Amino acid sequence: MTNFNIDVKKKNTYDAIVIGSGASGGWSAKELCDRGLKTLVLERGRKVEHIKDYSTASKAPWEFEYRGTVPLKLREGLQYGRFLREENMTFMMKEDEQPVVYEKPFRWYRGYHEGGKSLLWARQTQRWSDFDFEGPQRDGFAVDWPIRYKDMAPWYSHVERFAGISGNYDGLPELPDGEFLKAYGMSCIEEHFKESLGKNFPERKLVSARCAHLSDPQAIHTEQGRTQCQSQNMCNRGCIYGGYFSSNASTLPWAAKTGKMTMRPHSVVHSIIFDEKKNKATGVRVIDSQSHEMIEFYAKVIFVNASAINSTSILMNSSSDRFPNGLGNDSGVLGKYIAWHNYRGHASARFEGLKDKRTAGGRPTYAYVPRFRNLQKHDQEFFRGYATGVSGGRGEFSRQDGIGDQLRENLLSRELSDWNISAWMMGECVPIEQNHIRLHEELKDKYGIPQIVFSCDWTENDDKMVQDFMDQFKAMFEQAGYTQIQVSDSHSPPGADIHEMGGVRMGRDPKTSLLNEWNQLHACKNVFVTDGACMTSTGTQNPTLTYMAFSARAANRAADELTKKNL
Ligand SMILES: Cc1cc2nc3c(=O)[nH]c(=O)nc-3n(C[C@H](O)[C@H](O)[C@H](O)COP(=O)(O)OP(=O)(O)OC[C@H]3O[C@@H](n4cnc5c(N)ncnc54)[C@H](O)[C@@H]3O)c2cc1C
Repeated sequence: MTNFNIDVKKKNTYDAIVIGSGASGGWSAKELCDRGLKTLVLERGRKVEHIKDYSTASKAPWEFEYRGTVPLKLREGLQYGRFLREENMTFMMKEDEQPVVYEKPFRWYRGYHEGGKSLLWARQTQRWSDFDFEGPQRDGFAVDWPIRYKDMAPWYSHVERFAGISGNYDGLPELPDGEFLKAYGMSCIEEHFKESLGKNFPERKLVSARCAHLSDPQAIHTEQGRTQCQSQNMCNRGCIYGGYFSSNASTLPWAAKTGKMTMRPHSVVHSIIFDEKKNKATGVRVIDSQSHEMIEFYAKVIFVNASAINSTSILMNSSSDRFPNGLGNDSGVLGKYIAWHNYRGHASARFEGLKDKRTAGGRPTYAYVPRFRNLQKHDQEFFRGYATGVSGGRGEFSRQDGIGDQLRENLLSRELSDWNISAWMMGECVPIEQNHIRLHEELKDKYGIPQIVFSCDWTENDDKMVQDFMDQFKAMFEQAGYTQIQVSDSHSPPGADIHEMGGVRMGRDPKTSLLNEWNQLHACKNVFVTDGACMTSTGTQNPTLTYMAFSARAANRAADELTKKNL
Protein backbone atom coordinates (compact mmCIF):
# COMPACT_ATOMS: atom_id res chain seq x y z
CA MET A 1 0.00 0.00 0.00
CA THR A 2 2.82 2.34 0.98
CA ASN A 3 4.58 1.66 -2.32
CA PHE A 4 1.36 2.26 -4.21
CA ASN A 5 0.98 5.68 -2.58
CA ILE A 6 4.57 6.60 -3.33
CA ASP A 7 4.03 5.59 -6.96
CA VAL A 8 0.88 7.69 -7.24
CA LYS A 9 2.58 10.66 -5.67
CA LYS A 10 5.51 10.31 -8.06
CA LYS A 11 3.18 10.03 -11.03
CA ASN A 12 1.32 13.15 -9.92
CA THR A 13 4.44 15.21 -9.32
CA TYR A 14 5.65 17.88 -11.73
CA ASP A 15 8.11 20.75 -11.64
CA ALA A 16 5.34 23.30 -12.15
CA ILE A 17 1.57 23.45 -12.08
CA VAL A 18 -0.42 26.06 -14.01
CA ILE A 19 -4.05 26.54 -12.99
CA GLY A 20 -6.08 27.60 -16.04
CA SER A 21 -5.23 27.47 -19.75
CA GLY A 22 -6.57 30.86 -20.88
CA ALA A 23 -4.66 33.88 -22.07
CA SER A 24 -2.38 34.12 -19.04
CA GLY A 25 -2.12 30.38 -18.25
CA GLY A 26 -1.08 29.65 -21.83
CA TRP A 27 1.83 32.05 -21.43
CA SER A 28 2.90 30.63 -18.07
CA ALA A 29 2.85 27.13 -19.56
CA LYS A 30 4.79 28.11 -22.68
CA GLU A 31 7.54 29.87 -20.78
CA LEU A 32 7.89 27.20 -18.08
CA CYS A 33 8.08 24.47 -20.74
CA ASP A 34 10.55 26.50 -22.81
CA ARG A 35 12.71 26.64 -19.70
CA GLY A 36 12.63 22.84 -19.51
CA LEU A 37 10.21 22.46 -16.59
CA LYS A 38 7.82 19.52 -16.58
CA THR A 39 4.54 21.38 -16.39
CA LEU A 40 1.00 20.27 -15.60
CA VAL A 41 -1.79 22.54 -16.86
CA LEU A 42 -5.04 22.06 -14.96
CA GLU A 43 -8.11 23.24 -16.87
CA ARG A 44 -11.62 22.94 -15.48
CA GLY A 45 -13.26 22.90 -18.91
CA ARG A 46 -13.20 20.53 -21.85
CA LYS A 47 -10.45 20.08 -24.40
CA VAL A 48 -10.58 22.45 -27.39
CA GLU A 49 -8.07 21.48 -30.04
CA HIS A 50 -7.04 24.23 -32.43
CA ILE A 51 -8.88 23.96 -35.79
CA LYS A 52 -10.41 20.53 -35.10
CA ASP A 53 -12.74 21.76 -32.36
CA TYR A 54 -13.92 25.03 -33.97
CA SER A 55 -17.19 23.47 -35.06
CA THR A 56 -18.76 26.61 -36.55
CA ALA A 57 -15.63 28.25 -37.96
CA SER A 58 -16.41 27.76 -41.65
CA LYS A 59 -20.19 27.87 -41.60
CA ALA A 60 -22.03 30.28 -43.89
CA PRO A 61 -24.78 32.45 -42.34
CA TRP A 62 -27.55 30.35 -43.90
CA GLU A 63 -26.13 27.18 -42.34
CA PHE A 64 -27.09 28.40 -38.87
CA GLU A 65 -30.55 27.27 -37.86
CA TYR A 66 -31.39 30.63 -36.26
CA ARG A 67 -29.23 32.77 -38.59
CA GLY A 68 -26.87 33.64 -35.76
CA THR A 69 -29.21 34.75 -32.99
CA VAL A 70 -30.06 32.42 -30.13
CA PRO A 71 -33.76 31.92 -29.33
CA LEU A 72 -34.92 32.32 -25.74
CA LYS A 73 -35.53 28.60 -25.23
CA LEU A 74 -31.86 27.84 -26.00
CA ARG A 75 -30.59 30.61 -23.75
CA GLU A 76 -32.02 28.94 -20.70
CA GLY A 77 -29.26 27.89 -18.31
CA LEU A 78 -26.56 29.45 -20.48
CA GLN A 79 -24.45 32.33 -19.33
CA TYR A 80 -25.45 34.90 -21.87
CA GLY A 81 -25.37 38.56 -22.61
CA ARG A 82 -24.32 40.72 -25.48
CA PHE A 83 -21.70 38.16 -26.57
CA LEU A 84 -23.96 35.16 -27.05
CA ARG A 85 -24.37 34.20 -30.71
CA GLU A 86 -25.37 30.97 -32.34
CA GLU A 87 -21.84 30.60 -33.73
CA ASN A 88 -20.13 30.75 -30.32
CA MET A 89 -22.74 28.95 -28.19
CA THR A 90 -20.37 26.04 -27.65
CA PHE A 91 -18.01 28.37 -25.79
CA MET A 92 -20.69 29.68 -23.42
CA MET A 93 -20.63 28.40 -19.87
CA LYS A 94 -23.70 26.78 -18.36
CA GLU A 95 -24.81 28.71 -15.27
CA ASP A 96 -25.12 25.56 -13.16
CA GLU A 97 -21.41 24.87 -13.69
CA GLN A 98 -20.59 27.58 -11.17
CA PRO A 99 -23.49 29.39 -9.50
CA VAL A 100 -22.52 32.64 -7.78
CA VAL A 101 -24.25 35.15 -5.50
CA TYR A 102 -24.56 38.72 -6.70
CA GLU A 103 -25.11 40.75 -3.54
CA LYS A 104 -25.19 43.79 -5.83
CA PRO A 105 -25.78 43.61 -9.60
CA PHE A 106 -22.71 42.35 -11.46
CA ARG A 107 -22.17 40.42 -14.68
CA TRP A 108 -19.37 37.91 -14.74
CA TYR A 109 -18.49 36.44 -18.13
CA ARG A 110 -16.54 33.23 -18.09
CA GLY A 111 -15.07 30.93 -20.73
CA TYR A 112 -14.62 27.47 -19.26
CA HIS A 113 -12.82 25.37 -21.82
CA GLU A 114 -9.22 24.94 -22.92
CA GLY A 115 -8.02 28.37 -24.06
CA GLY A 116 -10.46 30.19 -21.76
CA LYS A 117 -11.55 33.62 -22.93
CA SER A 118 -8.62 33.83 -25.36
CA LEU A 119 -11.09 32.27 -27.82
CA LEU A 120 -13.72 34.93 -27.10
CA TRP A 121 -11.75 38.12 -26.66
CA ALA A 122 -11.73 41.13 -29.00
CA ARG A 123 -7.90 40.96 -29.22
CA GLN A 124 -7.19 44.61 -28.44
CA THR A 125 -3.67 44.91 -27.06
CA GLN A 126 -2.46 48.30 -25.83
CA ARG A 127 0.58 48.64 -23.59
CA TRP A 128 0.44 50.36 -20.23
CA SER A 129 2.69 53.37 -19.65
CA ASP A 130 4.11 54.98 -16.53
CA PHE A 131 1.01 57.20 -16.44
CA ASP A 132 -0.70 53.95 -15.40
CA PHE A 133 1.95 52.31 -13.19
CA GLU A 134 2.56 55.58 -11.33
CA GLY A 135 -1.15 56.40 -11.04
CA PRO A 136 -1.92 55.11 -7.54
CA GLN A 137 1.14 56.78 -6.03
CA ARG A 138 0.56 60.06 -7.86
CA ASP A 139 -3.16 60.29 -7.20
CA GLY A 140 -3.11 58.68 -3.75
CA PHE A 141 -5.36 55.64 -4.17
CA ALA A 142 -4.82 51.87 -3.79
CA VAL A 143 -1.10 51.19 -3.11
CA ASP A 144 2.00 51.90 -5.15
CA TRP A 145 2.77 49.38 -7.88
CA PRO A 146 6.06 47.63 -7.04
CA ILE A 147 7.14 47.94 -10.68
CA ARG A 148 7.33 50.56 -13.42
CA TYR A 149 7.05 50.52 -17.19
CA LYS A 150 10.76 49.81 -17.65
CA ASP A 151 10.32 46.51 -15.78
CA MET A 152 7.59 45.44 -18.15
CA ALA A 153 8.81 46.84 -21.48
CA PRO A 154 11.08 43.88 -22.42
CA TRP A 155 8.30 41.42 -21.54
CA TYR A 156 5.72 43.33 -23.57
CA SER A 157 8.16 43.03 -26.48
CA HIS A 158 8.68 39.33 -25.81
CA VAL A 159 4.94 38.65 -25.85
CA GLU A 160 4.19 40.92 -28.80
CA ARG A 161 6.81 39.33 -31.05
CA PHE A 162 5.43 35.85 -30.44
CA ALA A 163 1.71 36.67 -30.41
CA GLY A 164 1.87 39.02 -33.41
CA ILE A 165 0.47 42.49 -32.75
CA SER A 166 -0.48 44.91 -35.52
CA GLY A 167 -0.09 48.62 -34.92
CA ASN A 168 1.54 51.90 -35.90
CA TYR A 169 4.50 53.58 -34.25
CA ASP A 170 2.59 56.54 -32.85
CA GLY A 171 5.22 57.93 -30.50
CA LEU A 172 2.80 58.69 -27.65
CA PRO A 173 4.17 58.49 -24.10
CA GLU A 174 0.74 57.54 -22.76
CA LEU A 175 0.52 54.56 -25.17
CA PRO A 176 4.04 53.19 -25.67
CA ASP A 177 4.87 51.65 -29.02
CA GLY A 178 5.71 47.97 -29.25
CA GLU A 179 6.94 45.30 -31.65
CA PHE A 180 4.41 45.76 -34.39
CA LEU A 181 3.32 44.06 -37.57
CA LYS A 182 1.83 46.50 -40.07
CA ALA A 183 -1.25 48.33 -38.86
CA TYR A 184 -4.75 48.07 -40.25
CA GLY A 185 -5.90 51.30 -41.86
CA MET A 186 -8.52 53.70 -40.60
CA SER A 187 -11.75 54.44 -42.44
CA CYS A 188 -12.28 57.83 -44.14
CA ILE A 189 -14.43 59.15 -41.36
CA GLU A 190 -11.93 58.03 -38.71
CA GLU A 191 -9.22 59.89 -40.67
CA HIS A 192 -11.56 62.87 -40.86
CA PHE A 193 -12.15 62.78 -37.11
CA LYS A 194 -8.40 62.49 -36.50
CA GLU A 195 -7.80 65.63 -38.57
CA SER A 196 -10.52 67.47 -36.71
CA LEU A 197 -8.99 66.52 -33.36
CA GLY A 198 -5.62 67.76 -34.61
CA LYS A 199 -7.17 71.16 -35.36
CA ASN A 200 -9.59 71.54 -32.47
CA PHE A 201 -8.19 69.40 -29.62
CA PRO A 202 -4.48 69.00 -30.39
CA GLU A 203 -3.69 67.12 -27.16
CA ARG A 204 -6.18 64.37 -28.11
CA LYS A 205 -4.98 61.74 -30.59
CA LEU A 206 -6.68 59.13 -32.71
CA VAL A 207 -4.61 56.07 -33.61
CA SER A 208 -5.25 52.65 -35.08
CA ALA A 209 -5.94 50.33 -32.13
CA ARG A 210 -3.22 47.72 -31.70
CA CYS A 211 -4.57 44.19 -31.99
CA ALA A 212 -3.33 40.60 -31.80
CA HIS A 213 -3.82 39.77 -35.49
CA LEU A 214 -1.27 38.55 -38.00
CA SER A 215 -1.41 41.31 -40.60
CA ASP A 216 2.00 40.19 -41.84
CA PRO A 217 3.07 36.83 -40.36
CA GLN A 218 6.74 36.38 -39.55
CA ALA A 219 8.77 33.17 -39.24
CA ILE A 220 7.97 32.89 -35.53
CA HIS A 221 4.24 32.79 -36.40
CA THR A 222 4.46 30.30 -39.23
CA GLU A 223 6.55 28.13 -36.90
CA GLN A 224 3.47 28.06 -34.65
CA GLY A 225 1.41 26.85 -37.63
CA ARG A 226 -0.42 30.15 -37.94
CA THR A 227 -1.04 32.23 -41.00
CA GLN A 228 -2.34 35.61 -42.09
CA CYS A 229 -5.56 37.05 -40.68
CA GLN A 230 -8.22 37.00 -43.41
CA SER A 231 -10.18 39.91 -41.89
CA GLN A 232 -13.32 37.79 -41.88
CA ASN A 233 -14.41 39.04 -38.46
CA MET A 234 -15.59 35.58 -37.45
CA CYS A 235 -13.06 35.35 -34.63
CA ASN A 236 -15.45 34.30 -31.86
CA ARG A 237 -15.83 30.88 -33.52
CA GLY A 238 -12.11 30.10 -33.19
CA CYS A 239 -9.86 30.85 -36.16
CA ILE A 240 -8.72 27.99 -38.37
CA TYR A 241 -5.94 30.22 -39.78
CA GLY A 242 -4.61 31.10 -36.35
CA GLY A 243 -4.94 34.65 -37.68
CA TYR A 244 -5.44 36.01 -34.20
CA PHE A 245 -3.69 35.10 -30.98
CA SER A 246 -5.36 32.54 -28.77
CA SER A 247 -3.79 30.11 -26.33
CA ASN A 248 -5.18 27.29 -28.48
CA ALA A 249 -3.49 28.49 -31.67
CA SER A 250 -0.27 29.69 -30.14
CA THR A 251 1.10 29.16 -26.64
CA LEU A 252 -0.47 25.78 -25.77
CA PRO A 253 0.56 23.88 -28.94
CA TRP A 254 4.00 25.46 -28.59
CA ALA A 255 4.28 24.26 -25.00
CA ALA A 256 3.01 20.81 -26.04
CA LYS A 257 5.69 20.58 -28.73
CA THR A 258 8.43 20.88 -26.11
CA GLY A 259 7.26 17.53 -24.74
CA LYS A 260 7.21 19.08 -21.26
CA MET A 261 3.51 19.92 -20.93
CA THR A 262 0.72 17.71 -19.67
CA MET A 263 -2.74 19.21 -20.22
CA ARG A 264 -5.44 17.89 -17.91
CA PRO A 265 -8.94 19.10 -18.84
CA HIS A 266 -12.01 18.51 -16.61
CA SER A 267 -9.85 19.41 -13.60
CA VAL A 268 -11.54 21.89 -11.26
CA VAL A 269 -8.94 23.22 -8.86
CA HIS A 270 -10.37 23.24 -5.37
CA SER A 271 -7.44 24.65 -3.37
CA ILE A 272 -3.70 24.89 -3.00
CA ILE A 273 -1.94 22.66 -0.46
CA PHE A 274 0.31 24.52 1.98
CA ASP A 275 2.95 22.66 3.98
CA GLU A 276 3.68 24.47 7.23
CA LYS A 277 6.92 22.66 7.90
CA LYS A 278 8.33 23.58 4.52
CA ASN A 279 6.60 26.97 4.61
CA LYS A 280 5.60 26.60 1.00
CA ALA A 281 2.89 25.26 -1.23
CA THR A 282 3.40 21.66 -2.27
CA GLY A 283 0.56 21.09 -4.70
CA VAL A 284 -3.12 21.49 -5.50
CA ARG A 285 -6.33 19.62 -4.85
CA VAL A 286 -8.42 19.00 -7.94
CA ILE A 287 -11.95 17.73 -8.39
CA ASP A 288 -12.31 15.75 -11.59
CA SER A 289 -15.48 17.24 -13.10
CA GLN A 290 -16.46 13.92 -14.67
CA SER A 291 -15.85 11.51 -11.79
CA HIS A 292 -16.12 14.10 -8.97
CA GLU A 293 -13.08 12.39 -7.46
CA MET A 294 -10.61 14.56 -5.51
CA ILE A 295 -7.02 14.16 -6.68
CA GLU A 296 -3.83 15.82 -5.52
CA PHE A 297 -1.01 16.99 -7.77
CA TYR A 298 2.35 18.21 -6.56
CA ALA A 299 4.95 20.66 -7.86
CA LYS A 300 7.73 23.01 -6.86
CA VAL A 301 6.00 26.10 -8.21
CA ILE A 302 2.35 26.90 -8.78
CA PHE A 303 1.02 29.47 -11.23
CA VAL A 304 -2.51 30.66 -10.54
CA ASN A 305 -4.07 31.72 -13.86
CA ALA A 306 -7.75 30.86 -13.46
CA SER A 307 -8.80 34.49 -14.27
CA ALA A 308 -9.04 37.26 -11.69
CA ILE A 309 -12.10 36.23 -9.69
CA ASN A 310 -11.36 32.51 -9.76
CA SER A 311 -7.72 32.92 -8.84
CA THR A 312 -8.76 35.05 -5.87
CA SER A 313 -11.37 32.51 -4.79
CA ILE A 314 -8.95 29.58 -5.10
CA LEU A 315 -6.60 31.34 -2.66
CA MET A 316 -9.57 32.09 -0.38
CA ASN A 317 -10.51 28.41 -0.39
CA SER A 318 -6.92 27.42 0.46
CA SER A 319 -7.05 27.93 4.19
CA SER A 320 -4.69 26.26 6.68
CA ASP A 321 -3.64 26.76 10.29
CA ARG A 322 -0.97 29.17 9.07
CA PHE A 323 -3.38 30.99 6.72
CA PRO A 324 -6.88 30.69 8.21
CA ASN A 325 -8.20 33.48 5.96
CA GLY A 326 -6.82 32.22 2.69
CA LEU A 327 -3.37 31.45 1.31
CA GLY A 328 -0.96 34.34 1.68
CA ASN A 329 -3.60 36.55 3.28
CA ASP A 330 -1.61 38.04 6.14
CA SER A 331 -2.69 41.52 5.10
CA GLY A 332 -6.42 40.79 5.08
CA VAL A 333 -6.83 42.38 1.63
CA LEU A 334 -7.43 39.12 -0.28
CA GLY A 335 -10.63 39.58 -2.28
CA LYS A 336 -10.73 43.32 -1.72
CA TYR A 337 -10.10 46.20 -4.13
CA ILE A 338 -11.85 44.44 -7.00
CA ALA A 339 -12.09 46.82 -9.93
CA TRP A 340 -12.98 46.69 -13.62
CA HIS A 341 -13.37 48.99 -16.59
CA ASN A 342 -16.16 51.44 -17.14
CA TYR A 343 -17.70 50.97 -20.60
CA ARG A 344 -20.96 52.75 -19.79
CA GLY A 345 -20.57 55.79 -22.03
CA HIS A 346 -21.46 55.76 -25.75
CA ALA A 347 -21.60 58.43 -28.44
CA SER A 348 -22.62 58.32 -32.07
CA ALA A 349 -23.13 60.73 -34.94
CA ARG A 350 -23.57 61.02 -38.71
CA PHE A 351 -21.58 62.94 -41.28
CA GLU A 352 -22.99 64.21 -44.52
CA GLY A 353 -19.61 64.79 -46.22
CA LEU A 354 -17.23 62.37 -47.94
CA LYS A 355 -20.04 61.28 -50.24
CA ASP A 356 -17.61 60.11 -52.93
CA LYS A 357 -15.94 57.63 -50.58
CA ARG A 358 -16.94 54.25 -49.20
CA THR A 359 -15.45 51.41 -47.16
CA ALA A 360 -14.56 48.04 -48.64
CA GLY A 361 -13.63 44.79 -46.88
CA GLY A 362 -13.27 44.07 -43.19
CA ARG A 363 -10.62 44.69 -40.57
CA PRO A 364 -10.30 43.16 -37.14
CA THR A 365 -9.81 46.37 -35.18
CA TYR A 366 -10.93 49.98 -34.85
CA ALA A 367 -9.53 53.41 -33.99
CA TYR A 368 -8.55 54.44 -30.48
CA VAL A 369 -8.22 57.66 -28.52
CA PRO A 370 -5.73 57.10 -25.68
CA ARG A 371 -6.53 58.66 -22.31
CA PHE A 372 -6.29 62.45 -22.36
CA ARG A 373 -7.89 63.35 -19.00
CA ASN A 374 -5.72 63.99 -15.89
CA LEU A 375 -2.68 62.92 -17.86
CA GLN A 376 0.11 65.42 -17.22
CA LYS A 377 -1.67 66.87 -14.21
CA HIS A 378 -4.80 66.21 -12.21
CA ASP A 379 -7.26 68.88 -13.33
CA GLN A 380 -10.68 67.22 -13.39
CA GLU A 381 -13.37 66.66 -10.79
CA PHE A 382 -12.76 62.92 -11.04
CA PHE A 383 -9.68 60.73 -10.69
CA ARG A 384 -7.98 59.11 -13.66
CA GLY A 385 -9.59 59.01 -17.13
CA TYR A 386 -10.79 57.00 -20.08
CA ALA A 387 -9.53 55.74 -23.41
CA THR A 388 -12.07 55.52 -26.21
CA GLY A 389 -12.76 53.08 -29.02
CA VAL A 390 -13.90 54.79 -32.21
CA SER A 391 -15.33 53.14 -35.29
CA GLY A 392 -16.85 54.72 -38.36
CA GLY A 393 -18.17 53.38 -41.63
CA ARG A 394 -20.79 53.70 -44.27
CA GLY A 395 -23.70 51.31 -44.42
CA GLU A 396 -25.73 50.13 -47.39
CA PHE A 397 -29.49 49.92 -47.57
CA SER A 398 -32.13 49.17 -50.17
CA ARG A 399 -35.63 50.59 -50.44
CA GLN A 400 -38.31 48.08 -49.60
CA ASP A 401 -41.31 49.75 -51.17
CA GLY A 402 -42.89 48.93 -54.56
CA ILE A 403 -44.60 45.83 -55.91
CA GLY A 404 -43.40 43.11 -58.28
CA ASP A 405 -40.57 44.16 -60.62
CA GLN A 406 -40.33 47.52 -58.91
CA LEU A 407 -39.83 45.89 -55.49
CA ARG A 408 -37.25 43.54 -56.99
CA GLU A 409 -35.45 46.48 -58.57
CA ASN A 410 -35.54 48.44 -55.30
CA LEU A 411 -34.20 45.53 -53.28
CA LEU A 412 -31.35 44.90 -55.71
CA SER A 413 -30.31 48.55 -56.02
CA ARG A 414 -28.35 49.14 -52.89
CA GLU A 415 -27.70 52.71 -51.85
CA LEU A 416 -25.10 54.07 -49.50
CA SER A 417 -26.17 55.75 -46.28
CA ASP A 418 -24.34 58.71 -44.70
CA TRP A 419 -21.14 58.03 -42.84
CA ASN A 420 -21.68 57.11 -39.22
CA ILE A 421 -19.24 57.19 -36.34
CA SER A 422 -19.50 55.76 -32.87
CA ALA A 423 -17.36 55.94 -29.75
CA TRP A 424 -17.34 53.92 -26.54
CA MET A 425 -15.50 54.77 -23.38
CA MET A 426 -13.05 52.52 -21.55
CA GLY A 427 -12.74 54.18 -18.17
CA GLU A 428 -10.42 53.41 -15.29
CA CYS A 429 -12.28 52.33 -12.16
CA VAL A 430 -10.49 53.30 -9.00
CA PRO A 431 -10.23 50.24 -6.71
CA ILE A 432 -11.83 50.67 -3.29
CA GLU A 433 -11.80 48.34 -0.30
CA GLN A 434 -15.60 47.95 -0.17
CA ASN A 435 -15.70 46.43 -3.66
CA HIS A 436 -14.90 42.84 -2.82
CA ILE A 437 -15.64 39.19 -3.33
CA ARG A 438 -15.83 36.58 -0.57
CA LEU A 439 -16.82 32.93 -0.18
CA HIS A 440 -20.37 32.14 0.90
CA GLU A 441 -20.48 30.55 4.33
CA GLU A 442 -23.04 27.90 3.37
CA LEU A 443 -23.81 27.76 -0.36
CA LYS A 444 -21.62 25.44 -2.41
CA ASP A 445 -21.45 24.45 -6.08
CA LYS A 446 -21.85 20.91 -7.38
CA TYR A 447 -18.19 20.19 -6.63
CA GLY A 448 -18.60 21.19 -2.98
CA ILE A 449 -16.66 24.43 -3.49
CA PRO A 450 -18.10 27.49 -1.69
CA GLN A 451 -19.95 29.89 -3.97
CA ILE A 452 -18.44 33.28 -4.67
CA VAL A 453 -20.31 36.34 -3.37
CA PHE A 454 -19.86 39.54 -5.39
CA SER A 455 -20.26 42.85 -3.59
CA CYS A 456 -19.17 45.46 -6.14
CA ASP A 457 -20.67 48.74 -7.21
CA TRP A 458 -19.97 51.88 -9.22
CA THR A 459 -18.66 54.91 -7.37
CA GLU A 460 -19.35 58.61 -7.79
CA ASN A 461 -16.02 58.83 -9.61
CA ASP A 462 -17.35 56.48 -12.31
CA ASP A 463 -20.53 58.53 -12.73
CA LYS A 464 -18.57 61.76 -13.12
CA MET A 465 -16.28 60.14 -15.65
CA VAL A 466 -19.19 58.92 -17.78
CA GLN A 467 -20.66 62.45 -17.78
CA ASP A 468 -17.33 63.89 -18.87
CA PHE A 469 -17.04 61.34 -21.67
CA MET A 470 -20.50 62.27 -22.94
CA ASP A 471 -19.80 66.03 -22.75
CA GLN A 472 -16.41 65.71 -24.43
CA PHE A 473 -17.51 63.48 -27.28
CA LYS A 474 -20.50 65.69 -27.95
CA ALA A 475 -18.12 68.64 -28.20
CA MET A 476 -15.59 66.75 -30.34
CA PHE A 477 -18.27 65.52 -32.75
CA GLU A 478 -19.80 69.01 -32.97
CA GLN A 479 -16.42 70.52 -33.82
CA ALA A 480 -15.95 67.88 -36.51
CA GLY A 481 -19.21 69.04 -38.13
CA TYR A 482 -21.17 65.85 -37.44
CA THR A 483 -24.95 65.76 -37.05
CA GLN A 484 -27.53 63.64 -35.20
CA ILE A 485 -25.16 63.41 -32.24
CA GLN A 486 -26.34 61.08 -29.51
CA VAL A 487 -24.64 60.36 -26.21
CA SER A 488 -25.80 57.89 -23.59
CA ASP A 489 -24.97 56.15 -20.34
CA SER A 490 -25.95 52.47 -20.46
CA HIS A 491 -25.99 52.23 -16.63
CA SER A 492 -25.03 48.60 -17.12
CA PRO A 493 -23.98 46.75 -13.98
CA PRO A 494 -20.25 46.38 -13.30
CA GLY A 495 -18.59 43.38 -14.87
CA ALA A 496 -20.42 43.70 -18.18
CA ASP A 497 -17.23 45.44 -19.24
CA ILE A 498 -15.43 42.04 -19.15
CA HIS A 499 -12.19 43.29 -17.57
CA GLU A 500 -12.49 42.37 -13.90
CA MET A 501 -9.25 42.83 -11.96
CA GLY A 502 -7.76 42.83 -8.47
CA GLY A 503 -8.35 40.67 -5.40
CA VAL A 504 -4.70 39.56 -5.01
CA ARG A 505 -3.00 42.86 -5.63
CA MET A 506 0.69 43.54 -6.05
CA GLY A 507 2.43 46.01 -3.76
CA ARG A 508 5.65 46.83 -2.02
CA ASP A 509 4.35 46.28 1.52
CA PRO A 510 3.15 42.82 2.66
CA LYS A 511 0.91 44.58 5.18
CA THR A 512 -1.25 46.05 2.41
CA SER A 513 -0.76 43.73 -0.55
CA LEU A 514 -0.41 40.04 -1.40
CA LEU A 515 2.08 39.86 -4.25
CA ASN A 516 5.61 41.18 -4.65
CA GLU A 517 7.15 42.68 -7.77
CA TRP A 518 7.56 39.20 -9.34
CA ASN A 519 3.91 38.23 -8.75
CA GLN A 520 4.93 35.88 -5.91
CA LEU A 521 2.83 35.73 -2.77
CA HIS A 522 4.80 37.72 -0.19
CA ALA A 523 4.14 34.96 2.34
CA CYS A 524 4.43 31.88 0.11
CA LYS A 525 7.04 32.51 -2.53
CA ASN A 526 6.48 29.47 -4.73
CA VAL A 527 2.94 30.59 -5.63
CA PHE A 528 2.69 33.09 -8.49
CA VAL A 529 -0.53 34.88 -9.48
CA THR A 530 -0.16 36.49 -12.90
CA ASP A 531 -3.66 37.06 -14.24
CA GLY A 532 -5.98 40.02 -13.61
CA ALA A 533 -6.12 39.23 -9.89
CA CYS A 534 -2.67 40.79 -9.48
CA MET A 535 -3.73 44.20 -10.75
CA THR A 536 -3.22 46.97 -8.23
CA SER A 537 -5.07 49.43 -10.44
CA THR A 538 -6.82 49.05 -13.78
CA GLY A 539 -5.49 51.63 -16.25
CA THR A 540 -7.63 52.29 -19.30
CA GLN A 541 -5.98 49.86 -21.70
CA ASN A 542 -7.45 46.47 -22.55
CA PRO A 543 -5.62 44.46 -19.90
CA THR A 544 -4.78 41.04 -21.34
CA LEU A 545 -1.47 41.98 -22.97
CA THR A 546 -0.31 43.07 -19.52
CA TYR A 547 -1.40 39.76 -17.92
CA MET A 548 0.45 37.86 -20.64
CA ALA A 549 3.60 39.93 -20.08
CA PHE A 550 3.32 39.41 -16.30
CA SER A 551 2.99 35.65 -16.86
CA ALA A 552 6.03 35.42 -19.15
CA ARG A 553 8.10 37.57 -16.78
CA ALA A 554 7.12 35.64 -13.66
CA ALA A 555 7.58 32.22 -15.29
CA ASN A 556 11.14 33.10 -16.23
CA ARG A 557 11.76 34.41 -12.74
CA ALA A 558 10.41 31.15 -11.30
CA ALA A 559 12.71 29.14 -13.58
CA ASP A 560 15.70 31.30 -12.54
CA GLU A 561 14.87 30.93 -8.86
CA LEU A 562 14.47 27.16 -9.20
CA THR A 563 17.87 26.97 -10.85
CA LYS A 564 19.33 28.91 -7.94
CA LYS A 565 17.44 26.61 -5.55
CA ASN A 566 15.68 29.59 -4.01
CA LEU A 567 12.21 28.05 -4.28
C1 LIG B 1 -16.17 39.21 -25.42
C2 LIG B 1 -14.87 39.53 -24.78
C3 LIG B 1 -14.02 40.44 -25.38
C4 LIG B 1 -12.79 40.76 -24.78
N1 LIG B 1 -11.94 41.60 -25.43
C5 LIG B 1 -10.74 41.88 -24.92
C6 LIG B 1 -9.82 42.72 -25.62
O1 LIG B 1 -10.08 43.17 -26.72
N2 LIG B 1 -8.62 42.97 -25.06
C7 LIG B 1 -8.29 42.49 -23.83
O2 LIG B 1 -7.20 42.81 -23.36
N3 LIG B 1 -9.14 41.69 -23.15
C8 LIG B 1 -10.34 41.36 -23.66
N4 LIG B 1 -11.21 40.54 -23.00
C9 LIG B 1 -10.79 40.01 -21.70
C10 LIG B 1 -9.87 38.80 -21.89
O3 LIG B 1 -10.56 37.77 -22.52
C11 LIG B 1 -9.38 38.36 -20.53
O4 LIG B 1 -8.74 39.45 -19.90
C12 LIG B 1 -8.37 37.23 -20.62
O5 LIG B 1 -8.86 36.14 -21.31
C13 LIG B 1 -7.98 36.84 -19.20
O6 LIG B 1 -7.04 35.82 -19.25
P1 LIG B 1 -6.97 34.81 -18.05
O7 LIG B 1 -5.93 33.82 -18.37
O8 LIG B 1 -6.87 35.57 -16.80
O9 LIG B 1 -8.42 34.15 -18.00
P2 LIG B 1 -9.20 33.25 -19.05
O10 LIG B 1 -8.72 33.52 -20.42
O11 LIG B 1 -10.63 33.43 -18.74
O12 LIG B 1 -8.74 31.79 -18.66
C14 LIG B 1 -8.98 31.25 -17.38
C15 LIG B 1 -9.00 29.73 -17.50
O13 LIG B 1 -9.00 29.18 -16.21
C16 LIG B 1 -9.93 28.10 -16.16
N5 LIG B 1 -10.35 27.96 -14.76
C17 LIG B 1 -11.14 28.79 -14.06
N6 LIG B 1 -11.30 28.31 -12.81
C18 LIG B 1 -10.58 27.17 -12.72
C19 LIG B 1 -10.38 26.21 -11.69
N7 LIG B 1 -10.91 26.33 -10.47
N8 LIG B 1 -9.62 25.13 -11.97
C20 LIG B 1 -9.06 24.96 -13.21
N9 LIG B 1 -9.24 25.83 -14.22
C21 LIG B 1 -9.99 26.93 -13.97
C22 LIG B 1 -11.03 28.53 -17.10
O14 LIG B 1 -11.79 27.43 -17.55
C23 LIG B 1 -10.24 29.21 -18.21
O15 LIG B 1 -9.86 28.30 -19.22
C24 LIG B 1 -12.43 40.18 -23.55
C25 LIG B 1 -13.29 39.27 -22.94
C26 LIG B 1 -14.51 38.94 -23.54
C27 LIG B 1 -15.42 37.97 -22.87
